[in-house]
Amino acid sequence: MIETDVLIVGGGPAGLATAIALKRKANGKSLRVVVLDKGRSPGSHILSGAIIDPSGFKGLLTDEEVAKLPVEAHVVKESFRSILTPGFSLKIPWVPPMMSSKGYPVGSLTKVTQYLAQIAVKEGVEFYTGYAVTSLVEENGRIVGARTGEKGIGKDGQKKSNYLPSEEIRAKTTVLAEGGAGILTERLIAEKGLQGERAQTYALGIKELIEVPAGTQTAGEVMHTFGYPADFTTYGGGFVYHVSETQVMVGYAYALDYRRPEMDTFRLFRRFKATAAVAAHLKDGKTVAYGAKMIPEGGYYSAPKPYYPGCMIVGDGAGLLDSLRIKGVHIALQSGMAAAEAILAGDEASYVTRLHATSGWKEMKRVRNVRAPFSIAMPFGVMAAGLAWATFGKFPCCRLPGLGKNDAEELEELKPGRLAREAKNDVPSGPAMPDRLTDVFMSGTIHQEDQPCHLKIRDAAKCEECEKRFGSPCTRFCAAEVYRRDEIAGENGVTRGPLQIDFSNCLHCKTCAIKCPYGNVDWTFPQGGDGPRYTRM
Ligand code: SF4
Repeated sequence: MIETDVLIVGGGPAGLATAIALKRKANGKSLRVVVLDKGRSPGSHILSGAIIDPSGFKGLLTDEEVAKLPVEAHVVKESFRSILTPGFSLKIPWVPPMMSSKGYPVGSLTKVTQYLAQIAVKEGVEFYTGYAVTSLVEENGRIVGARTGEKGIGKDGQKKSNYLPSEEIRAKTTVLAEGGAGILTERLIAEKGLQGERAQTYALGIKELIEVPAGTQTAGEVMHTFGYPADFTTYGGGFVYHVSETQVMVGYAYALDYRRPEMDTFRLFRRFKATAAVAAHLKDGKTVAYGAKMIPEGGYYSAPKPYYPGCMIVGDGAGLLDSLRIKGVHIALQSGMAAAEAILAGDEASYVTRLHATSGWKEMKRVRNVRAPFSIAMPFGVMAAGLAWATFGKFPCCRLPGLGKNDAEELEELKPGRLAREAKNDVPSGPAMPDRLTDVFMSGTIHQEDQPCHLKIRDAAKCEECEKRFGSPCTRFCAAEVYRRDEIAGENGVTRGPLQIDFSNCLHCKTCAIKCPYGNVDWTFPQGGDGPRYTRM
């Protein structure tokens, strides 16, 4: 058994901000701080846009450290496009002030996380990668630590020669910094009744890094879009960021409260890249990296109470996202600092009030009514966004309807002919338009094959029922082609075979745990160190 003052589960920006702030604000007080991350190396499970609002570093890093952030560009030119179609888009003549990010650093959050990890270690934080924390330890109504998962279990469930047992880590305070839809976080929220006024709603974000020839693009140019290829009742939007003269990040986020089961998130991403507005930025480019992640975008009303005795939730797990700008890194950093200050003050429960005093939380409150109307129809969302901004969030003053259900419950049954029609919308492959499995290869994801499958189907019969009613949406919403039904030609024509699960492709985005209409996927932890190996996302 290991004992520590603070255990931080997850080494992303929120967890590392907590760790750095604990060390820097301790005023000479000796404090053991342990960070455990399930990724193979610092930042390897971290992916984001990312244009980083630097307000999050205030009080955490020195100006000199902020100046040394590993990004090659700052936003110099920005544009916003709406009414996107394959060949047309309307450039909004000015960038709405609430969306502007001129001068902000733009680049890889993986690299920024690596940088924060170096600072944390220099401050004396113990940071261990390759350890999945699989359960919390509770005694007498208080979280007193956590347990790591076993390693070296074969797919037959037997211990292998490299077996490592689970380890208990006792901590005076445990901080959950697992990111969006973290397993321990979700469990704690559900079991302790911590959910906010509304269920959390998520979006799946898919992103590529594309190399383009030198001299063709401007570093620091960014473009945002909303809508297409999302339909009118689904919140969706994309971005193009020129993070250096030869590298472009392109991403598309699609809300998981979508209703039509034929929708295929990866195909939507390809269609987005194929629009004239986006393709102009990717000319003669070649995709070199890929990834996907979960974005908790419900905002203010969906944020859970982030505290339970002995335990705090920081960052994406606490639903900390400005759901208009789809920005959360700065709020994640601020939440880490608020958690650290509460721990150092010897008053953990004060974390909630400290968090609510941050500028990031106030920002979330201002746009608290923006996300829900988008799920009714896009024009309502646009109106709500304008009103929220113009009135500093004062109007509408109370909670607007919408987003009452969880994301899986929104799915409608599959209508005849829709699958074939949707499949026709796919676009041809090319160097900047790889197919799904080529992209998965570029994510670097690896899982040892000789281990139990971490995606457990609770009831196989429900998968067959799902195929009849919804056409197995997991075979389309998974950005890594983990779920598959092969087509089988027979006497009665082509039918779809049984559900196959290629767990080794998994990108740990957790979409299947959220969007399966039967809640039939139990997402458990694979062996620590497995999963994506992002290096520049
Ligand atoms: Fe995401 Fe689930 Fe697919 Fe893994 S299997 S990539 S968690 S949807």
